[in-house]
Amino acid sequence: MAGSNTLPFELDRDLSKARIVQLLDTNDPLIEKALFERAYQVKAEHVGTQVYFRGIVEFSNQCVKDCYYCGIRRSNTQVRRFTMSEEDIVAAGLWIHDNGYGSMVLQSGERRDAGFVDFVERVVRKLKEKTQGELGITLSLGEQTADTYRCWLKAGAHRYLLRIETSNEALYRQLHPEDHDPSVRLACLKWLRSEGYQVGTGVMMGLPGQTSADLADDIAFFKDNDIDMIGMGPYIVHSQTPMAATIKDFDPTRQLQLGLRMIALTRIVLQDVNIAATTALQALDPRGRELGLEAGANILMPNVTDVKYRDAYQLYNGKPCMDENALQCKDCLRARIESIDETIGLGQWGDSPHFFKRRREIGQIHE
Ligand code: SAH
Ligand code: SF4
Repeated sequence: MAGSNTLPFELDRDLSKARIVQLLDTNDPLIEKALFERAYQVKAEHVGTQVYFRGIVEFSNQCVKDCYYCGIRRSNTQVRRFTMSEEDIVAAGLWIHDNGYGSMVLQSGERRDAGFVDFVERVVRKLKEKTQGELGITLSLGEQTADTYRCWLKAGAHRYLLRIETSNEALYRQLHPEDHDPSVRLACLKWLRSEGYQVGTGVMMGLPGQTSADLADDIAFFKDNDIDMIGMGPYIVHSQTPMAATIKDFDPTRQLQLGLRMIALTRIVLQDVNIAATTALQALDPRGRELGLEAGANILMPNVTDVKYRDAYQLYNGKPCMDENALQCKDCLRARIESIDETIGLGQWGDSPHFFKRRREIGQIHE
């Protein structure tokens, strides 16, 4: 039996769907402890205990989509819309680089117009130029065409995050208007992969109507689609959305529990991928991100967006660190990471080992 596992079954990559459901639903603290310990062991073995930072800049809340759960959806007229200037985004990227974060995530609402595509291309090029190619760039800009993904890759981005939100198609349809098509997301993930990105996806946990069996299927989806990076977090209500009524059933303790257990199970099943401890965990518990690292995550995404924009980029209520600038955030994070005896992979991209493994297997790179 592996490590300190006292369970009557192995916690390994072949966990069955029934076992995953059982582990998501258990009321036994000893079983949960064994799960987290095993996940940490698998993380240490396959990706190490260094935490890699991606400084995230949420540069625009303009969005053409209308996802029912999201605070910056198109129909929310109470949001002040903004887009940061090219200069301000580049300045934020240089701060990230100068402070040794290694990588940056550019995230925004979704736009597909030519003006936006060119804007992002210029920003990415400039960031690469000004850092002599040293800054790693991840994009999280929604559904685009294969041509757009190629254009941004050529400009210098090399990782892309696009969550499927849920692998249950019927549930996806309940959470989105009719013209939001889950098959487009799947096509986008395929294009991203064939263009050569490190591909990240993820889901929300604890969505209304979502079952533990759905979450087990989500993990199977990540595995079957050979995903390199996972960014997932608990669903949190936003009061100005059509799903605001779900607040009456909202149980933050269960949301956090699901968030952490999903990280642990995904680590055990997928082993060598990058997994982020996302901000939504911290919104539910001040130590949420550290708990995420202890449950098997190895990536943190400190928010580097200028504080003056943060209240306009609230995807959900209670987003933490709304008034902490990047420098305060950096010092706070260092202390948090030291508190759990991990180190920060400064100045490194911290790419997903899984990406290199799958590329080696298909003979696309030789190391
Ligand atoms: N527009 C892009 C990127 C920004 S949204 C996109 O949708 O891909 C990034 C993620 O925020 C989404 O994928 C969704 O999973 C998450 N999100 C949105 N609203 C949320 C909520 N109420 N609670 C938790 N996560 C939410
Ligand atoms: Fe737009 Fe992304 Fe929010 Fe959907 S989740 S409304 S695409 S920002």
